[in-house]
Amino acid sequence: MTSSPLAPAWLGHPADANVLPAPIWSRGAVREASGEIAFAGVPASALAREFGTPLYVVDEADARTRARDIRDAFADAAGRAGTTAKIYYAGKAFLSIEVARWMTEEGLAVDACSGGELAVALAAGVDPDRIGLHGNNKSLAEIDRAVAAGVGAIVIDSAIEIERIAAAAARHGRVQPVRVRVNSGVHAHTHDFLATAHEDQKFGVRLDQAEEFAAAIRSYPELRLLGLHCHIGSQIFGSDGFAESAARLLEAHALLLRGGEVPELNLGGGFGIAYTVADDPTPVPELAESIVAAVAGECARLGIPVPTLAFEPGRSIIGTAGATLYEVGTIKDVLVSVPGESGEAVDLVRKYVSVDGGMSDNVRPALYGADYSVRIASRTSDADPALVRIAGKHCESGDIVVYADYLPGDVEPGDLVAVPATGAYCWSLSSNYNHVGRPAVVAVRDGHARVIVRRETEADLLSRDAAYPGAQP
Ligand SMILES: *Cc1c(COP(=O)(O)O)cnc(C)c1O
Repeated sequence: MTSSPLAPAWLGHPADANVLPAPIWSRGAVREASGEIAFAGVPASALAREFGTPLYVVDEADARTRARDIRDAFADAAGRAGTTAKIYYAGKAFLSIEVARWMTEEGLAVDACSGGELAVALAAGVDPDRIGLHGNNKSLAEIDRAVAAGVGAIVIDSAIEIERIAAAAARHGRVQPVRVRVNSGVHAHTHDFLATAHEDQKFGVRLDQAEEFAAAIRSYPELRLLGLHCHIGSQIFGSDGFAESAARLLEAHALLLRGGEVPELNLGGGFGIAYTVADDPTPVPELAESIVAAVAGECARLGIPVPTLAFEPGRSIIGTAGATLYEVGTIKDVLVSVPGESGEAVDLVRKYVSVDGGMSDNVRPALYGADYSVRIASRTSDADPALVRIAGKHCESGDIVVYADYLPGDVEPGDLVAVPATGAYCWSLSSNYNHVGRPAVVAVRDGHARVIVRRETEADLLSRDAAYPGAQP
């Protein structure tokens, strides 16, 4: 069969809409002989029965393996360039105490970008020295708490923060290590990067202000300059943007070296993952090798030592480890008119499959048109694949979870469907829209599942409503 004219160009008609394309699914997700998808040995139906739907399922071994692989890839590449690499897990992708512990056990540091994320990392027992704090508008309380806790790095995002952090360090009798977030003018997304002199965005300071910032930081004995920081974007597939950005940063880094030590360079996160069969991110070892080689080459050209390198991956560690399970509730065939070959309107069917969650548990499609994939999780089927759109249950027509994929045409109410690659920026961006509680997060490992963040209940939602008799003040 040919693909539906309603399908995007990248989405071919599959021979079999039951298969799980490897790059999109966690390593522990397999079709069992029963036809069900099992996650680390736990069948989808068992997960739905025990924990309900919608449900975030995180494959612990997969997340740990990706963390370790990234750590090793950068350690190896850095070693060949005569330096070391430090990997921070970007907690904003998904953070819970349990996940912070996995990352710590795999040798990663943790990045927090708010007091709340910092609180989770501290509650997880992460060594404060291995926590970084970000944010373009950290409150005085957040700065104070971070300094008091002894975090290993605070990333300065504006001039006013220099004195704020120095004051907190003086209060707590500490020397606070800091980085300066600069804007390299390189902004990358997926296959392309855009390189400009200046970028119209809220993060960081101009690269040509780096020396001024370094001098101001060095004027405070309570501050220690670690180096520059830059994050060029997210869901990036190649290394070119990183290499270009690093080259620009190293010019400034070399200037800073004239005024004192600059031990590190932090190139941020943003390594891409596959959400659909159209995505082909560069494998991490290759990415690590080319980024580090670009840095080493530039350092040689500038005649400076290769600094300790820091990276902050989030999505590439936790994204593919997660999937969301939903139950199908209603289905409708919607007629869509498209221009036919001779210009006349032709009606085509788009099958809207509505599930029991939506933009409250995954806002990325509504927020920036992100594409996802879907499979029936509770069974296989020989029915001809049909183009579907997975819609949520919210009161917004933009409440779409999967814009386009093929499912067996006999998909029906009661089927469980799984949307892969939802480990990053789904739970962390979730909301209570329509007073829908956030789903539970369960970790699966070796045939066992356990809740790592419980489901939000109506009682949770009502308990914050001050007029409710049982409200918690
Ligand atoms: C979001 C962010 C990251 C993580 O990005 P991923 O795409 O999840 O790897 C790292 N560093 C900074 C400063 C960020 O804002």
